Amino acid sequence: MEAEFILSAVHPEQFPLESSARPEVAFLGRSNVGKSSLLNALVGRGKLAFVSQKPGCTQAINFYRIGEFYQFVDLPGYGYARVPKEITREWKELIEQYLLHRTALQLSVLLLDSRHGWMEKDLELKQWLEFHQRPYVVVATKTDKLKTQSERHRGMEAIRKEMNGSELLPFSAVSGRGVREIWQAISRIKNSQ
Ligand code: GDP
Repeated sequence: MEAEFILSAVHPEQFPLESSARPEVAFLGRSNVGKSSLLNALVGRGKLAFVSQKPGCTQAINFYRIGEFYQFVDLPGYGYARVPKEITREWKELIEQYLLHRTALQLSVLLLDSRHGWMEKDLELKQWLEFHQRPYVVVATKTDKLKTQSERHRGMEAIRKEMNGSELLPFSAVSGRGVREIWQAISRIKNSQ
């Protein structure tokens, strides 16, 4: 899959022009949840390497053109304890501006670490997406770290308990498990247009 970096925005005025011909998929999650690893796995061994945004540094929204049809939007990670309140506020504002007003946004992918499940900030975000009627799927990352079948089952059930009907997709960057299912969820937006 061809992937091309478009730009990095720290203010809404810097967001690229949107087009309904290129629906956007936004990726959201706590810092270190495995977001860059997921993006790399989805795009495959292209020329582009997604790198984690370091907590505490300037928080930016990165836009990428993916293949012929999509735009991926990498939103800065949240929930990092050492980030000062000031930056958290800026983060919220930037992200809310994007999530509230972006017409091209067709799907949000909310990432959770399968070992930790929902944490407070994840739940806040989920409620926010539901309140604003933004469709989302949940990806449970790092499932290879759950060693037994029953651990995996318990982990998925704990996540599912907080979900009302949206899709839960297990993923591991180590084994590649879930890549196909996540692409299927993404391609549904194009088919439903
Ligand atoms: P980001 O901060 O959300 O972009 O997270 P990264 O993709 O940089 O991953 C954070 C850390 O988790 C890195 O050390 C990765 O190697 C590790 N990691 C990410 N995905 C997986 C996974 O599926 N399995 C395992 N075992 N480790 C992972």
